[in-house]
Amino acid sequence: MKRYQLSDALSISAIVQGFWRLDGWNFSAGELADFMNACIDRGVTTFDTAEIYGGTVCETLMGEAFKKDPTIRKRIELVSKTGIFVETINGKPFGYYNTSYDRVMQSCRESLKRLNTDSLDLYLIHREDPCLDVWETARALQQLKKDGLVREVGVSNFDPFKFDALNKAMDGALVTNQIEWNPVCFEHFNSGMMDQLTADKIHPMIWSPLAGGRLFSDDATCVSAMKKIGEIADRHGVDPSVIVYAWILYHPVGAAPITGTNKLARLDHAIQALDVKLAHHEWFEIYAASGQQKIR
Ligand code: NAP
Repeated sequence: MKRYQLSDALSISAIVQGFWRLDGWNFSAGELADFMNACIDRGVTTFDTAEIYGGTVCETLMGEAFKKDPTIRKRIELVSKTGIFVETINGKPFGYYNTSYDRVMQSCRESLKRLNTDSLDLYLIHREDPCLDVWETARALQQLKKDGLVREVGVSNFDPFKFDALNKAMDGALVTNQIEWNPVCFEHFNSGMMDQLTADKIHPMIWSPLAGGRLFSDDATCVSAMKKIGEIADRHGVDPSVIVYAWILYHPVGAAPITGTNKLARLDHAIQALDVKLAHHEWFEIYAASGQQKIR
């Protein structure tokens, strides 16, 4: 398995397994441990979660699997995130962000407890908090590193301005930005984030590479994208999802797609993409396929 070096202290597998949907999988702790071991056997050693996933249930379920097979934790890079919270107001859930020093410190300790582990390999600020005090958040992330509770830190869904601001307060210590990118989502191309990450030699992690499964739906934009992707898949004699992963892996930024499936055959499509060589013009065919991006 190809790996990306995020820092001197941390590398991740080029294909990452995501556990956002874990609370819907109905896996026992033993079944989850088996699934995790099957990922590791394939070289997919980086596992992604967050405190908000399933309202903290996903971290708890992962922690139970780590307890069931205590060898797993030592063989993976464990990623979690903080910053999103939900308050019940007038009987209705209200989502908001909190990236203050105290909240980040408390959240990390709580995540470690749920995950049955002493430390995280990578800890991310989950979203682009508009009330972010970069100096406060940086102080918390630096303290967590100093205390040995996290190995490296990064962010998720940050635009170039927020990334630069927090990275300045962190003396350049952010090692990734976990962002959405797929054939129907180009936010971070249009913001210039992809160029900035390429220039800074920072590998992004890519969430919802298959648009959360929407790519296979009858949504008109997805149908347009998949028509072209299917055509290119036929040229290469592979499943269309293999082409989507190959398209992400092709980019010079060195992106690590995070698969969200619980099916090993579908995880294997992501791994297979590492051996697919797209023609340069094929990358552009997919870039333009949904009609959202223009090649001038
Ligand atoms: P995804 O791989 O784009 O979507 C996974 C979904 O697509 C699953 O429901 C899967 O169903 C379905 N799917 C896959 N192949 C399919 C096919 N051929 N036909 C129909 N459906 C198919 O990724 P994601 O789950 O949205 O996100 C991946 C990971 O990124 C998450 O687990 C999480 O770790 C991370 N994430 C991060 C953020 C963030 O803000 N940082 C946000 C969202 C997600 P099956 O399980 O049945 O295969």
